Formats: sequence, C-alpha cells, structure tokens
Amino acid sequence: MHVMILGDGAVGKSSILKQYHNNKFTNQHIKTLGVDFIQTQYKKGEQSFDVKIWDTAGQERFKTITYQFYRQANGMIIAFDITNLESFENVKTWMNSIYKHADPSIAKVLVGNKIDLEEQRVVTKAEATKIAQEHGMDYFETSARDNINIQELLQYIMDKVYDNL
Ligand code: GDP
Repeated sequence: MHVMILGDGAVGKSSILKQYHNNKFTNQHIKTLGVDFIQTQYKKGEQSFDVKIWDTAGQERFKTITYQFYRQANGMIIAFDITNLESFENVKTWMNSIYKHADPSIAKVLVGNKIDLEEQRVVTKAEATKIAQEHGMDYFETSARDNINIQELLQYIMDKVYDNL
C-alpha cells in the first residue's frame, strides 16, 4: 500500500507522519529536498500489508513534485493548516493535481492540522467539510503537536485503501 501526504509547505505534513510513527514532535522546520517515507504495517484479520507513507519533503515549495509517486499511490492525505488561509485555498490546486496525475479511484481524505492553535483559526470546520464533500472526501482535524486524531487519520486512510483493493 502506498499513501501520500500532500499540501502546502509548513502545514505539518512531516510532523503528522513523525507523530504517527514515533510519537515525536519537534518544533524544528528543517527540510531537505526529496521524498521521504515512513513504513508501517496495516493489519486486517489474518492479513498484513506493508504500508509506505510518502511525504513530499519540501518539493511543494519548488513545485517539482515527482508525479510518478502519484501514479503509484493508492491513498492521498491532503493537508492544510487551519491557521493559514492560503494553505486552505490551495487545497483546490492539490486536488487538481490529483485529478490530473493519480488513479481516479484513489482513496483520499482532507485534514486540517494545528487545531491546538484554535485562537488563530481562520478556516471553519463547516467550510472545510464543504470542500471535502465536494471532492467526495471526509474531513479530519488534527494536531500533530498534541497528538490529536493522528492515529485515527492514518487508520482511516489505510482502511479506505484496503476497501478499494
Ligand atoms: P511540512 O512542511 O508540511 O512537512 O510541515 P512541518 O511538519 O515541517 O511543520 C511546519 C511547522 O509547523 C513546524 O514548525 C512544526 O513544528 C509546526 N507544526 C506542525 N504541526 C503542528 C501542529 O499540529 N500544531 C502546531 N502548533 N504547530 C505544528
């Protein structure tokens, strides 16, 4: 199983993956260019699948995403930052790139991260849910910092990928 996490730079994509993988959150924002991934196992009854979750690792800033990763992906997490309007507006652009480069039946989910910064919120839950529904997705809200809803998000997308196999 291949899952990708997409979204503007600094919305918290690698923090979400780090938090999922080893319950670590750092305040650093150091990025190398390339594609990183974490590896995990998805278990369903007696079956077990290797899952790779790919992070675009800074490429979004240079608009040079390697589209061959899109074609390999079975699942997409599209992330924005609830305190950053531009990152929410760019969800449209990310969706277009998925429609253009990924399998049409790909499993996808929208995530609004940084809900620990509620007082700085500029995107409402209702607005985000509406966009998600327009693209046939469910909407999750997370905090990679406080480890809110991270396990649930990853479990959700892996379940969706499994259902699509
Ligand atoms: P990426 O470029 O999308 O992979 O974003 P990063 O994971 O590198 O995070 C960008 C910045 O946002 C870093 O300074 C993180 O510490 C911070 N950050 C990530 N997730 C959260 C969160 O849930 N809450 C808060 N308050 N900060 C976060």
